[in-house]
Amino acid sequence: MNNFIKKIIEKDLKEKKIKKLHTRFPPEPNGYLHIGHAKSICLNFGLAKKYEGKCNLRFDDTNPNSKNKKYIKYIKKDIKWLGFKWHGATCYSSKYFKILYKYALKLIKKKLAYVDEMSHEEIKYHRGTLNKKGINSPYRNRCISENLSLFEKMKKGYFSEGKACLRAKIDMSSPIILMRDPILYRIKFTKHHKTKNKWCIYPMYDFAHCISDYIEKITHSLCTSEFSENRYLYEWILKNIEVKNKPKQYEFSRLKLEYTVLSKRKIQTLINNNIIKKWNDPRIFTISSLRNKGYTPYSIRKFCNVIGITRKDHMIQMSSLENCIKKELNLKSPRIMAVVDPIKIVITNLPKNHVENINFPNHPNRIDMGFRKSIFSNVIYIEKNDFSENNVNKKYRGLILNGEIRLRYSYIIKCNKVLKNKKNKIIKLLCTYDKTTLNKNPKNRSVKGVIHWLSSINCFIAQFNFYERLFNIKNPDSKKYFLNFINNESIIIKKGYVERGIKNIKEKKRYQFERIGYFYLKKIKNNHVWKFNRIVELKNTKK
Ligand code: ATP
Ligand code: MG
Repeated sequence: MNNFIKKIIEKDLKEKKIKKLHTRFPPEPNGYLHIGHAKSICLNFGLAKKYEGKCNLRFDDTNPNSKNKKYIKYIKKDIKWLGFKWHGATCYSSKYFKILYKYALKLIKKKLAYVDEMSHEEIKYHRGTLNKKGINSPYRNRCISENLSLFEKMKKGYFSEGKACLRAKIDMSSPIILMRDPILYRIKFTKHHKTKNKWCIYPMYDFAHCISDYIEKITHSLCTSEFSENRYLYEWILKNIEVKNKPKQYEFSRLKLEYTVLSKRKIQTLINNNIIKKWNDPRIFTISSLRNKGYTPYSIRKFCNVIGITRKDHMIQMSSLENCIKKELNLKSPRIMAVVDPIKIVITNLPKNHVENINFPNHPNRIDMGFRKSIFSNVIYIEKNDFSENNVNKKYRGLILNGEIRLRYSYIIKCNKVLKNKKNKIIKLLCTYDKTTLNKNPKNRSVKGVIHWLSSINCFIAQFNFYERLFNIKNPDSKKYFLNFINNESIIIKKGYVERGIKNIKEKKRYQFERIGYFYLKKIKNNHVWKFNRIVELKNTKK
């Protein structure tokens, strides 16, 4: 799909502003990647591939976190799983700490940076608002040598956290608040996963990002729209450290998806509050959750392509993502019968030992996928909700007492009796079958409903996990207390049966259970209970 970034790149290549495109994907290793990151990955890696350029993977590890290492491992795994390969070795902002420090000294020497000893609250207050100009810090006009010596002291650990920071000296009355003397370095006594305890001053994102882009010879630095104001600082820093071949920043819309939150910080809140246990819970939209649920890399790439790249943010419907996997699985996945919530039927006009082989197609529109053997016998299972004792609703297509129904690819049966226990709960149905109706309809008799079913001698027990939306409102992201909008019925687990023939199907992972949905084989417990995750419903029943 065409987008404004492609146009810019094509122009730059045509006018020979750049020789080769060089992009980067710069995750902060503070959580797992989510579907929003997939958008950025598909964009950055996709463009590099299209224009025969390069795309780096750079961990923005300027903010030390004890879990950095673990997250790096999973981030790499997810990028590879999505089908992308980064150029050369993995990059880390921390590798440039020394160079960044030198550029900080350069700014101090140019009187463009100073050590401030105000507290964070004071700095925030002095910064002002859109309607109120900022106020200069009393430390703003320190001389170069004093700044150099204080910055050295910061580096050597003479100040405790929050007691001093390095700020750019730009303009406290700038209409862009971010340009009101932004902080470039802060003090943190946290062990870093790479540099260990070597540094106790760490560069801020804005300072490290543009210089890292420059060091790696990035040509187009693509980030999300909330960074549009940071572009001024990006350009200010590169201009004032006086480097050639400056990279340029462009912003695109951040992906927002209905009924979920994407930000890593919010996902962490869900974990901290025990709403979900792990980052790969199938009800959230991290890449590993989607993989766990049964999504394919192709469907995610397809989704990123379908939603496109725009400048303006907008909310994407969940059905957009679901349609991508549905389309893929509709073409590819073998059909299988499963009964997720069974009710037993005894066919009274069949002998107990009757075994009749019937061939089922593995895909109704693809003969190349072949057939499998199924069995018709005197005990079968159907879905509970395909039977209703006395349903008067005209639209109801299921089986009723004294009514008839067609078993898919098989016979018409008639329900003659409902057997119940003392508590009035249905135990089984007694039915008869019409032997003249195998795959054909008798004249003068119309049977509207066709249902899926399984013979008791042609199935085994299975567990079916249905994952529903975790939130019951469209835009939980917009709510401060988003935890108040959790759907308490977001996991439904059912025990039922699946057709034996599933064991002989080559594609061993994703299936369409007829009339129920697409499912992903997750685990085979104790070698006999198979577990399936529902990937997606067949039809969009929810808006
Ligand atoms: P989060 O709030 O989830 O932590 P982030 O922007 O802080 O998001 P980073 O790890 O810093 O996450 O992001 C790496 C890259 O992925 C950045 O270029 C960022 O712009 C991009 N990205 C993150 N979230 C989205 C999103 N929802 N849509 C598109 N791109 C995204
Ligand atoms: Mg972040």
